[in-house]
Amino acid sequence: MTALTNLLDLDPQQLVAYCGELGEKPFRATQLQRWMHVFGVSDFGAMTNLAKSLREKLTGRAVIVEPAVISDSTSHDGTRKWLLDVGRGNAVETVFIPEDDRGTLCVSTQAGCAVNCRFCSTGKQGFSRNLTTAEIIGQLRMAEFALRKTKGVESGPKGERQISNVVLMGMGEPFLNYDAVVRALKLMLDDNAYGLSRRRVTVSTSGVVPMIDRLAQDCPVSLAVSLHAPNDALRNELVPLNRKHGLKELMAACRRYLEYAPRDAIMFEYCMLDGVNDTDKHARELITLVTDRTNPVSCKFNLIPFNPYPESGLKRSKHERVQAFGKILLDAGFITTVRKTRGDDIDAACGQLAGEVQDRTRLRERLQNSREICTPTDRKLIRVVEEVA
Ligand code: SAH
Ligand code: SF4
Repeated sequence: MTALTNLLDLDPQQLVAYCGELGEKPFRATQLQRWMHVFGVSDFGAMTNLAKSLREKLTGRAVIVEPAVISDSTSHDGTRKWLLDVGRGNAVETVFIPEDDRGTLCVSTQAGCAVNCRFCSTGKQGFSRNLTTAEIIGQLRMAEFALRKTKGVESGPKGERQISNVVLMGMGEPFLNYDAVVRALKLMLDDNAYGLSRRRVTVSTSGVVPMIDRLAQDCPVSLAVSLHAPNDALRNELVPLNRKHGLKELMAACRRYLEYAPRDAIMFEYCMLDGVNDTDKHARELITLVTDRTNPVSCKFNLIPFNPYPESGLKRSKHERVQAFGKILLDAGFITTVRKTRGDDIDAACGQLAGEVQDRTRLRERLQNSREICTPTDRKLIRVVEEVA
């Protein structure tokens, strides 16, 4: 018996091809896609404008399945977090952050993470596996229609959209799951799916340089780069991937990316760690890094107060230190924001997304023999931004 195709795994182009294989015209793929992503329907029988013969064909060959919700909690500040089952003992988290002018969903891309940044806890659990496109876009689909249901908003194009922005800042490194991520991005942007503008979709990376170049070609959405240090010596310690792709290479990739997203700026994320990367000297060094006299990187900074976890041995920078650091960047002319912690009472703040991950890769053991690549880990998310005064 052939396996059933999960149609949430297909981007718009692939769905047209799939329908073509069934002898159907491209407009049928559009109809089908709208049922799935605009109306949130999973039952082929309810797709009333599809011919009965097509519905029957689909029923025998395809399914529409998103990850099952294990838990669903809402913080006192309105932040809502879902824990999702992604099979084989793994669970990932998705967080919705409501603000006055937008609703942002923080999406996970991997169960665990192999990069093993020093301050990030998901890796603690080890890398397990890449999420499929269905599991990535399924987070947006599940959250959008769950939020509508809670508020009594109808599905379909007439109902008010609840999620206006998506950030790939949940668990995992998006660029180490490139193909599945790009397919999901294409659905996020497609008018017959979620119709988000590319500026409202942000991919955050620890600096996988070759994939920055590929994304510029394939789907140039907003790019956030997790910098965390102004020089290679410190960044090698905090973000082990820096040993492979150093800062010079990373800055050059950021400049190249902006050629494809010319009116944008790169968002540099900087996790503020007490006594580690938060001195005035570090701030000035950061300015020098991005202000190459002949070729500066158009950028802004987002300072993230570290969300501590017991085993990290690290502390969050004091509020005054974050402000002073931000002021140096602001005075040098850079838009600088400080990320507010949201949803900390439900462990949904940046760096608190843990999920549950089975390390099937024996990564820790392998790492004992190799300092070159990273380990597991992760955390994340959020946004909402507060100007540094
Ligand atoms: N892997 C990607 C995207 C997910 S991490 C990346 O690293 O960019 C999203 C953001 O959360 C990153 O900027 C990361 O540095 C930050 N983060 C991770 N752990 C954190 C913690 N404990 N406290 C605050 N921010 C954290
Ligand atoms: Fe992975 Fe966490 Fe580092 Fe992002 S911050 S690359 S999720 S270890």
